[in-house]
Amino acid sequence: MGQLSLNQITKIFGTFEVVRNVSLDVHDGEFMVFVGPSGCGKSTLLRMIAGLEDTSGGDIVIDGKRVNDLAPVKRGIAMVFQSYALYPHMSVYENIAFPLRVEGAPEAEIRRKVDEAARILHLETRMDQRPGNLSGGQRQRVAIGRAIVREPEIFLFDEPLSNLDAALRTDMRIELTRLHKQLGATMIYVTHDQVEAMTMADRIVVLNGGVIAQVGAPLELYHKPQNLFVAGFIGNPRMNFLPVICDAVTDAGVTVTYDGKSLTIPVSVPSDQGPALKGTQMTLGIRPEHVVLGAGEAQLTVAPSVVEYLGQHTIGYAPLAGDAGNFCFVLSGTQAAVEAPTVDLSFSTADCHLFDANGQAFERHVDMAAMRMQKPVGMLQTAN
Ligand code: ATP
Repeated sequence: MGQLSLNQITKIFGTFEVVRNVSLDVHDGEFMVFVGPSGCGKSTLLRMIAGLEDTSGGDIVIDGKRVNDLAPVKRGIAMVFQSYALYPHMSVYENIAFPLRVEGAPEAEIRRKVDEAARILHLETRMDQRPGNLSGGQRQRVAIGRAIVREPEIFLFDEPLSNLDAALRTDMRIELTRLHKQLGATMIYVTHDQVEAMTMADRIVVLNGGVIAQVGAPLELYHKPQNLFVAGFIGNPRMNFLPVICDAVTDAGVTVTYDGKSLTIPVSVPSDQGPALKGTQMTLGIRPEHVVLGAGEAQLTVAPSVVEYLGQHTIGYAPLAGDAGNFCFVLSGTQAAVEAPTVDLSFSTADCHLFDANGQAFERHVDMAAMRMQKPVGMLQTAN
């Protein structure tokens, strides 16, 4: 078993509350990713689960047992750090064997478990080498091997791939996903890289300023972000936000005006809230990859100031009026036609997101079963 519950977890450093009332259930065998911007508290939360940091409030429960006062080694967890934390003077074999030697395990058991970890991680030919002779990816595999031999209920990973170059990171990402399937263990993984989060997670926890902004499956966060923060955080390039005014709320959705044009966005509004929304400021969200060239349901004419050619995609940026930033669009293939003084773009209202004046999303009319069949085409690899 590897079931974790966090109940109202809080962490205060001095007077600074870095984690506030976080409650979460992680299921046995689940791959859960904590993601969020730098300083949002994701490493602190992981370190509290590991027992490397005390909580200021709340309960941490593993397999039904409150572990707040248990030493890290007694919690049934193993943690893998960004820095590998290997012993440079020891061989790969001895590094992996280390926690078993500390426990005083019999030699035969150590050999069996280390050999098995080496086989799973494809390290068999490296066992006599020192960490200094290995690549970054191989060193991280040794660190993972050291966690595997402990046979923990829960693996904790703190940005384990951040020191690797982009290509190696992709390889290790795939290996970790394979490892999770093979071991079937509960894994909690901290990263600031949303591509890692989207590709590896069963569910993602998005943290913002020490609180949970949303928990959900990757495509749920992509198609149904609950607030402006998650909408802007998940997706690369990030979602465009346009200021709009609400004209009417009907069964078909919310009719808004943007740039003098009327658009009905298919979202649901609780019946008691409809009348009060008329005339209020809202934010319309449209992902760059849902914008196409030419005429369509919702149109805008932009003056691209920067065009990037990635081969697979063409990405354009055009300044919006006022201080609304750039409007970004991602087109398939090479589209040199966008290097014109003005370009007509359009998008479908079905692809739009709508947020109220407090940044909370209205429920979109999205068929998630159908959406799971589609890959979000705009999820580009972030630079290392
Ligand atoms: P990053 O991705 O940059 O590692 P993070 O989301 O993991 O960020 P944490 O490392 O959890 O963030 O830190 C959250 C906040 O708590 C930060 O503002 C950090 O400066 C602060 N913090 C972390 N550890 C301590 C500490 N021991 N003493 C005081 N403040 C701390």
